[in-house]
Amino acid sequence: MLIIRSVCELKKELSNLKGEIGFVPTMGALHNGHISLIEKSKTQNDYTVVSVFVNPTQFLPNEDFDKYPKNESNDIKICKNLEVDILFMPDKNEIYLENEPKILAPKNLANILEGAVRPGHFDGVCMILNKFFNLIKPKRAYFGKKDAQQIAVVENLVKTFFMNIEIIPCEIIREADGLALSSRNSYLDEEQKLYALKLSRSLLKAQNLINQGQVDTQMIKSEMKTILEPLKIDYIAFTNKNFQEISKIEINNTIILVAAVVGTTRLIDNIWI
Ligand code: AMP
Repeated sequence: MLIIRSVCELKKELSNLKGEIGFVPTMGALHNGHISLIEKSKTQNDYTVVSVFVNPTQFLPNEDFDKYPKNESNDIKICKNLEVDILFMPDKNEIYLENEPKILAPKNLANILEGAVRPGHFDGVCMILNKFFNLIKPKRAYFGKKDAQQIAVVENLVKTFFMNIEIIPCEIIREADGLALSSRNSYLDEEQKLYALKLSRSLLKAQNLINQGQVDTQMIKSEMKTILEPLKIDYIAFTNKNFQEISKIEINNTIILVAAVVGTTRLIDNIWI
């Protein structure tokens, strides 16, 4: 496995590759969620490139950019074990120039849910992925459904700029107790982890109600709220796969999304119905 930190060296190595590239962008502190994306890429492509880059432009000024979990040696070990071909770990000065054109996420996605709570976040996501996609030119790129809205933003980016990249959504990987894996879970102590379980439990409750025939989203939402108490809820939302709000569950075309704060840690989770 090549560990590459400079854009120049990456370009040189990529020019030697003959075949399809699968790309897995991450912010590091790798866990089984990331691993599932890498494994999928390995099965579908000739080469797999993984990036570990804590992208400053997708963090708001008051967010956790400075303390975002880092574990470089473990990330390297994991990628080596998975036989990743190239692990790209650039410094931010390699990636961003002082003056450069900005890309903005589309308003219909950028102003709702995660975008409403974290204004500018998806602009940063678009900026970094535009750069990485141009640089790496993957055939396929792998994203977790955990960040459901991000997938819609990325699909829009690829379509808008006529990029020949297939976006592959991957299932959410959870702990045995249901907690969706996240690098930010490392901020939680044991007691907070129990509170964090309320997110997946509320979604499970929603799934059970739907299995029993309930289609009214307001009714499901109020049951979810009861489970989520006393957490600070950022949103509970019911959308179709185009991220338009719905009032009745549509089987095979509904995403239920929840965002809540445990202590000082903001967590998100969702299920696709
Ligand atoms: P991150 O390092 O948090 O930016 O995540 C990098 C990629 O891994 C994104 O596409 C995430 O959606 C995905 N990911 C994060 N957590 C999970 C999980 N629990 N299951 C599946 N994919 C995940």
